[in-house]
Amino acid sequence: MDYLPVFVDLRGRRVLLVGGGPVAARKAALLHAAGARLRVVAPERCAELQALASRSDIEFLPQRFTPATLGDCVLVVAATDSAETNHEVAAAARSARIWVNVVDDAAAGDCLMPSIIDRSPVIVAIGTGGATPTLARRVRARIEALLPERLGALARAAGERRERVRAALPAMLARQHFWDDFLDSPLAQQILAAPLAAAAIDAGFDAQLAAAGDAATGASAQPRMGIVWLIGAGPGDPDLLTLRAQQLLQQCDVVMYDRLVPEAVLARVRRDAERVFVGKQPGSHRTTQQRIHELLVQHARRGRRVARLKGGDPMVFARGGEELVALAQAGVPVIVVPGVTAALGAASSARIPLTHRGASQSVCFVTAMGEAAAALDWRALAAPLQTVVFYMGASQLPQIVARLIEQGAPPDRPAAIVEQATLPGQRVIAGTLRDIAARAGAAEVGAPALLVVGDVAQFATNDSIAGA
Ligand code: SAH
Repeated sequence: MDYLPVFVDLRGRRVLLVGGGPVAARKAALLHAAGARLRVVAPERCAELQALASRSDIEFLPQRFTPATLGDCVLVVAATDSAETNHEVAAAARSARIWVNVVDDAAAGDCLMPSIIDRSPVIVAIGTGGATPTLARRVRARIEALLPERLGALARAAGERRERVRAALPAMLARQHFWDDFLDSPLAQQILAAPLAAAAIDAGFDAQLAAAGDAATGASAQPRMGIVWLIGAGPGDPDLLTLRAQQLLQQCDVVMYDRLVPEAVLARVRRDAERVFVGKQPGSHRTTQQRIHELLVQHARRGRRVARLKGGDPMVFARGGEELVALAQAGVPVIVVPGVTAALGAASSARIPLTHRGASQSVCFVTAMGEAAAALDWRALAAPLQTVVFYMGASQLPQIVARLIEQGAPPDRPAAIVEQATLPGQRVIAGTLRDIAARAGAAEVGAPALLVVGDVAQFATNDSIAGA
């Protein structure tokens, strides 16, 4: 190990920064964020430094570096664009026994500034000993994707209640178990998902702490309640999962998924999670919605973290609302994670702008399945200057088109079908209301597929990297 990572408390302490360019400005912002009292030595300062100075109490010495400027500093950062000056600064700092960092020249100084992920108070530092900062940035990006944005809020919530836990649970092992349980609990998930008032955190936290106290003293404890994460899997391409979806899929104990969720997405689920298929399988019956509710509740009551994974977005034609109601009635906590709905996935990969100046001012998502079709306002759907996306429409194509034309849509209005949007087998069939049904028939379009109707459909292309 060439370097020992250490976190330094710079709040209120004097740090000398030598340099007045953009690189120095970035370091100045970082040091300022860490609470250091900054002294900047440079004959001139760039606009960024100037802007920072106007917002903070940085001390500026408009001059070249001299050892006299080291003063009472605890750390020196040499960030000029001259290697010679940087070395001079480093030598002076060293003879004054002050830690020095030389930007872009690890060997010239005593310490490095790592690549950091700041979810304060959680901070991750990544260093490569100066060998390859580019690699450090990539490592950082990968770790960052795994860390919820609100991790710091969770850490603070725990930190503010440490003393309480220490008092309630004198045994160290009991405290460790408590904290593990807390971090796995629905309350912790809620803190990660959205801002929560301190009083709301306290209520849940104190109940957990009381239960842990009972368990520690032998009083019977209830089995811990699990949680359901209602997660949108996106249109198919696993790279279109949200970061939160990926984080939760890595933590779940059970995943319940249906037909629209492809294997490539399931491959992102924690390997030892139990897989429960609840869709329609050829030759067998679809799991009823009622049965799905029962399964979700059962698993959660056994204390499990259930990922209820649905194609696209869970709140768009996905019966997410029914599952929310059933879970709320059963007292099971739920967190909803949005996904890229099929219309958005299809629009991007077929290059159809859903709104376009002069061509479409609004977008409408509809399903024309079964009885729902009769209740739709077909006259409104046939109106110009909009985009209408039909979900679950492939088998109803001739009826949809006939109704639109009947209600006044011109037969030459552009229309496009996107089959298996964002998946390796994606196909785009473009035409007009007059011929789209025949084209789809000839191409033997299957599920899943969407129909896009409106002038914007003329942009549809199968070539997802057109122009490349
Ligand atoms: N909740 C989903 C929609 C489920 S309804 C979402 O937000 O996307 C199922 C319908 O979605 C299918 O019949 C089809 O019309 C559409 N669909 C889902 N995935 C699709 C895909 N990859 N390509 C085209 N259409 C898709």
